[in-house]
Amino acid sequence: MYLTDYSIDDLKQLLASWNEPAFRAGQIFAWLSKGVLPENMSNIPKTLRAKLSEIPYGSVQIFDKRLSARDGTVKYLFSMEDGNMVEGVLMRYRYGNTLCLSTQVGCRMGCAFCASTLEGRVRNLSAGEMLGEVSAAEKDEPPREDGGRAVTNLVLMGSGEPLDNFDEVVRFLRLVTSPDGAGISPRNISVSTCGIVPRIYDFMEQAPHVTLSVSLHAHDNETRSRIMPINNRYPIDDVLKAAAAYSEKTGRRVVFEYALIRGVNASQADAAALASKLKGMLCHVNLIPLNPVPERNLSGCTRKEAYQFQNWLEQKHISATVRREMGTDIEGACGQLRRKTIHDLRK
Ligand code: SAH
Repeated sequence: MYLTDYSIDDLKQLLASWNEPAFRAGQIFAWLSKGVLPENMSNIPKTLRAKLSEIPYGSVQIFDKRLSARDGTVKYLFSMEDGNMVEGVLMRYRYGNTLCLSTQVGCRMGCAFCASTLEGRVRNLSAGEMLGEVSAAEKDEPPREDGGRAVTNLVLMGSGEPLDNFDEVVRFLRLVTSPDGAGISPRNISVSTCGIVPRIYDFMEQAPHVTLSVSLHAHDNETRSRIMPINNRYPIDDVLKAAAAYSEKTGRRVVFEYALIRGVNASQADAAALASKLKGMLCHVNLIPLNPVPERNLSGCTRKEAYQFQNWLEQKHISATVRREMGTDIEGACGQLRRKTIHDLRK
């Protein structure tokens, strides 16, 4: 376990085993939530800092960074202690900044349109490493005049399948929402899943109640199984049932991600069929013109076509929006910067 994986309770136990006072736990936790190394924990006695330094930290560093001249979006390539890398993206909105972060190095879900899964799953990220993505981005931003946080919202939509790294993701959500640490409200957090149905039920019991996003991308089993292998295991109706249960339990609407793929799921008939599938659910559809991945032979539709699809859904009383395009000048689809960097480093 990394030091950054420790909750306040874990730290209290550790301190007790060292005969150190329990009140230090909160101080240490606050530092860890900011990505501060033990040697720089200024209100902690030197002897205790030395003991903490002996525990592997689980540090996350910014390896590369691209800033969009167009909208200020920042794409980060984070490196971890073992040299593995993951991506994160900081997006600026009127209400605050959202960090999109990764939960695994690579992914084993095998979706046909996604760059993150091309080489499978390398490993899970630990809770502390996910926290490290947040603190690294926070430290990288200039301090705000109002003293508030730079990173106010999180989406677990970078590489990896959050519910395939269930325990660490739940632990991370507890750490990052803790008022003694980063204190990000669960209301400001979205977790996106490809639809691992039993884990959705576990998630609603065990995790803070965040917004659940479900990557749907099709309204029928045939199409969905073709582009998302997980659908062979958990068919679409079971996914929708779990999503409805989540929204009932948490009182929050579920967001369905729907990447529009030309010739696959983007026709008017598709919109009508999707609308009738979702009828009566407390939900919202987020339309994304597919981001083309060079390694994948699928093409997206235009933004104009995406707005047309949105209209078709709205005519059937399904609330929908087209996702804003951000940082198109600095990144490709999810997973591409990491692939490109690893490729260049190998050259
Ligand atoms: N594994 C989780 C979260 C990571 S993917 C999930 O499946 O939801 C984040 C979102 O990006 C998902 O909705 C995913 O389907 C979508 N995505 C992946 N590749 C994409 C691409 N090339 N274009 C558009 N969206 C893509």
